[in-house]
Amino acid sequence: MLLPEMPEVETLRRGLVRAAAGQSITSIRISDERVLKRCDSDDFTERLTGATVRAVNRRGKYLLFEMVVANVAPFHLVVHLNMKGGIRRFDTDVPQQKYECVRVGLNTGSVLVYTDMWTWGDWHLDEAAAFTQVADVVSMGPEPLDSGWSGALLAERLAGRRGLIKAVLLDQKVVAGVGNIYADEALFTAGISPKRQASSLDAGECDALATSIASTLETAVRCGGSLGEYVDLDGNPGTYEPRVYGGKGRPCPLCGGPLMKISVGGRGTTYCPDCQH
Ligand SMILES: [Zn+2]
Repeated sequence: MLLPEMPEVETLRRGLVRAAAGQSITSIRISDERVLKRCDSDDFTERLTGATVRAVNRRGKYLLFEMVVANVAPFHLVVHLNMKGGIRRFDTDVPQQKYECVRVGLNTGSVLVYTDMWTWGDWHLDEAAAFTQVADVVSMGPEPLDSGWSGALLAERLAGRRGLIKAVLLDQKVVAGVGNIYADEALFTAGISPKRQASSLDAGECDALATSIASTLETAVRCGGSLGEYVDLDGNPGTYEPRVYGGKGRPCPLCGGPLMKISVGGRGTTYCPDCQH
C-alpha cells in the first residue's frame, strides 16, 4: 500500500464530509489502543460518544473533525494516517476487519473503520483551535489548495531558505501537503530543476511553480489520489498517474529524452535534465 500523501487524505476528507458531517457518533470501539498516541481509551470513547461531527477539515495530512456536544466546549478529533492507516465506510456494522484499530458508529447506521497494519497512525482529541498536542498543525505553511495561495506567497515562503528547491518544498513548514511524488511533478510542470537553490527562483518562476503545485494536487485529488492500492472511503483506488515520478530511464513526456533519477536531501527525485533548468 502506498503512503497516503495529501491528495489521498483530501480524497478521504471529501468522503468523510459526505458520510459524517452533521451526524452524531453512537459508538466507539477500540481494537488496538496503539493508535491512541496521546490519550486514554476510556476518556477518548466517553468524550466522542454522543458528540456530533460539525465539520471535517484538513491541515496538511491531518484530518481535523470538529466535534460538538451540548454544554461542553467544542473540541477536535485529530487523525493522522502515517504510513499504513486507512478509513473505510460501511453501510452496516460489518465483522471485524483485518488490522482494525478504531471503529466509529454513526447515527445513520453506517460505520467508519480505521485499519492500520503498523499502528503508526495517530488518533487523539484536542481543544478547538488550540492543537496543543501536535505542534506540526500550528507551524505548518500555507495550503496550496486554499484561495490565498499564489506565486507571491510562495516567494515569501522561499525567501532566505537555504537548500535545494525540491528539499525545501518537502518541508511542511514552508508549504503544507507537498510530498515526494507531487514535488517532482510540480517541478517538472514548472520547468524548474530540483537542484536549483530555493532562494534563486525569480518572481516568474515562483508564479509558475505555485500554479503547478496547485494544479498537480488538484488533478490528483480529482483522480482520488495516486494510482495504486490506496483506497478512498468506499474502497476505490486512486487513478492519478505521475508524468515523471518513478519514471527513471523512460522518455520525457515533453522532449522524449531519458528521465534521470538523482537523490535530493535523501529522497529519490526524477526529472528531465533537458526540460528543467
Ligand atoms: Zn524533457
